[in-house]
Amino acid sequence: MASSNTVLMRLVASAYSIAQKAGMIVRRVIAEGDLGIVEKTCATDLQTKADRLAQMSICSSLARKFPKLTIIGEEDLPSEEVDQELIEDSQWEEILKQPCPSQYSAIQEEDLVVWVDPLDGTKEYTEGLLDNVTVLIGIAYEGKAIAGVINQPYYNYEAGPDAVLGRTIWGVLGLGAFGFQLKEVPAGKHIITTTRSHSNKLVTDCVTAMNPDAVLQVGGAGNKIIQLIEGKASAYVFASPGCKKWDTCAPEVILHAVGGKLTDIHGNVLQYHKDVKHMNSAGVLATLRNYDYYASRVPESIKNALVP
Ligand code: AMP
Ligand code: MG
Ligand code: MG
Repeated sequence: MASSNTVLMRLVASAYSIAQKAGMIVRRVIAEGDLGIVEKTCATDLQTKADRLAQMSICSSLARKFPKLTIIGEEDLPSEEVDQELIEDSQWEEILKQPCPSQYSAIQEEDLVVWVDPLDGTKEYTEGLLDNVTVLIGIAYEGKAIAGVINQPYYNYEAGPDAVLGRTIWGVLGLGAFGFQLKEVPAGKHIITTTRSHSNKLVTDCVTAMNPDAVLQVGGAGNKIIQLIEGKASAYVFASPGCKKWDTCAPEVILHAVGGKLTDIHGNVLQYHKDVKHMNSAGVLATLRNYDYYASRVPESIKNALVP
């Protein structure tokens, strides 16, 4: 392992602080009461003032410190001068103390692609299901997701008025994932987590084919990966297009860093180079353990319906 003052570790340390700031923005917009909801492609594909402000904050803060990065954010926003108040300049010191995995020590800023979902779980955010929401900053090198940060702004929100709200999970392949307690679902239990707001027949047929003991329908790709690493669900199954590269990049890293696996529904590894198609057209299949059990139960008819 090389010294921590590599571009990658400095970027992760910045992304941690920037995701925390975005989480604060997400909370502030709710507190102020005007969500400013806009429909993007349809009534279940929404953008709020929080999505817009968080993306401006994240992308501008990253670009200011790391001008040679390629940064791809979910929201289409007019390019305008960003309020200084939205800029986060600090770096999370604990991350700077960590060693950089040696295979990443020579990475240059211009080699990295950052995938930003400023607010994952927007539909649920507008409905008050606040713990479904996450801020996702994923970092890719040579087309592979290698580092990521997930901020969950409303973690602890049901624990009473004295609870500290929010947490940040981060990880780097070869180093590990931090900010949570790894837990597995009891052996032999098949608990599937899937979409709440974007279901269709392919999604439900695929879940049913896996013969689950229980099915959880919750919002957010980030939220579902947190369920996998905290022992609440054993597989994330989404046999449909809809989920994009910014939804999977950071969550995939956290899952892979603790020995899990995320692929499309065919078992293909996802690619994250800057010119890749944004849509994960062949869906998502992710598990912490027992990937093969779930992969082997995806019906051929569903595979045939989902072209990568
Ligand atoms: P979900 O599990 O429904 O929260 O979806 C995970 C991520 O994929 C969220 O960011 C969703 O907005 C996105 N997503 C999934 N399906 C669709 C869809 N049909 N249209 C727009 N976004 C979608
Ligand atoms: Mg999302
Ligand atoms: Mg989003």
